[in-house]
Amino acid sequence: MSVKIIKCRRYNVKAMSHLLSEAFDEFGVSPPSDVPTLLKPNIVIAAKPRSAIITHPAVVEATIRAFLENGVRKIIIGEGPGLGADERKFFTAAGYERLRRKYDVTLLNLNKAERVEVSWKYGTLKIPKIVVDAFYVNMPKLKTHGNTVVTLSIKNQKGLLLNADKKRFHLLGLHEPLVELLKVVKPDLVVVDGIVGMEGEGPLNGKRKKANVIVVSTDAVAADITCCRLMRIEPKNVEHLKMAIEQRLCGEPGGGAEPDVKDAEAVKASFKPPHESYGRLLNVYSWRNPYACSMCIDAFSLAIKSAFSRPKYWGTLLRFLYFAAFRRIDVIQGRHAKVPEGAQGILICLGNCTKDVTAENAVHVEGCPPDAESILGALRSAL
Ligand code: SF4
Repeated sequence: MSVKIIKCRRYNVKAMSHLLSEAFDEFGVSPPSDVPTLLKPNIVIAAKPRSAIITHPAVVEATIRAFLENGVRKIIIGEGPGLGADERKFFTAAGYERLRRKYDVTLLNLNKAERVEVSWKYGTLKIPKIVVDAFYVNMPKLKTHGNTVVTLSIKNQKGLLLNADKKRFHLLGLHEPLVELLKVVKPDLVVVDGIVGMEGEGPLNGKRKKANVIVVSTDAVAADITCCRLMRIEPKNVEHLKMAIEQRLCGEPGGGAEPDVKDAEAVKASFKPPHESYGRLLNVYSWRNPYACSMCIDAFSLAIKSAFSRPKYWGTLLRFLYFAAFRRIDVIQGRHAKVPEGAQGILICLGNCTKDVTAENAVHVEGCPPDAESILGALRSAL
């Protein structure tokens, strides 16, 4: 098991490429020339590189250059963006289209890629064939995450799944299926973009946080432990990482050794974790639940945004903003959702998963996920 923390203050492709080449040489990383090399960044939505939501394309470009200099011929950049993301625009918005033209690499939407079935704890799972065929490089962004505390290489693998399985992972409790997925799909290499990461309400609504590092590892669990240490987040507070450590998935099979993180101690990039129970904007509380997939809360945010351009909902929007500023709105989602303490204003129960929640102030919105019309209609009658 090898882990290296590369200190790097800027997205300078030439400098990063040189440092990555040195790390790959040190670890003896050499993708075979007879199979493609798959780079799997985190592009969860169509966001710009500066947003710190996605893996910066400059780190991917530096990796491409390091591999090309090493004799690698066929490189594919593959990602399956999150539920509800604009699949026509995500590569372009994220700055990856330029890499396709400059280096003649292939951009592959994994949501539409050919699949093969693998056996895993819950039966069979369809994963992209290219992940099995290629030398697979997992390239996450260094970020905190509302449901999983951090999102690093283990969580980045969720982008390999079909949308139906992304939902299913949440219904299964998210943490355990992430660990089970790692048992059947292991990256050959992990390269983490931690030059500018995200802290707080990640993966989409946190703040940019400079950590000035790229983390390289031949082991996903070791990479994630190391990233947690340098974010000053205890790895065992990350449920899926705790499970991976307890099941001795770090290093060689049955190994279980934690990586040496002396360098991580020296980096000192303390990341603010997300609030453990909810995300909050004014007096709107969105409650965490690992059983809830992001589609529900994303549908809610998009519905509110869409109301600004729909005159018939302006009255609803004004009342919503009044409640957000002076009273309270709680939004719950996902199976096993509970009525939160202190939820005395409007309680929005989003999606079919919450249909059994009972409370006097509950407003149910049907759908999986609910559409904007249902959400705004429910708000109009409740506010
Ligand atoms: S109702 Fe919402 S949380 Fe439940 S499965 Fe559907 S989209 Fe996911």
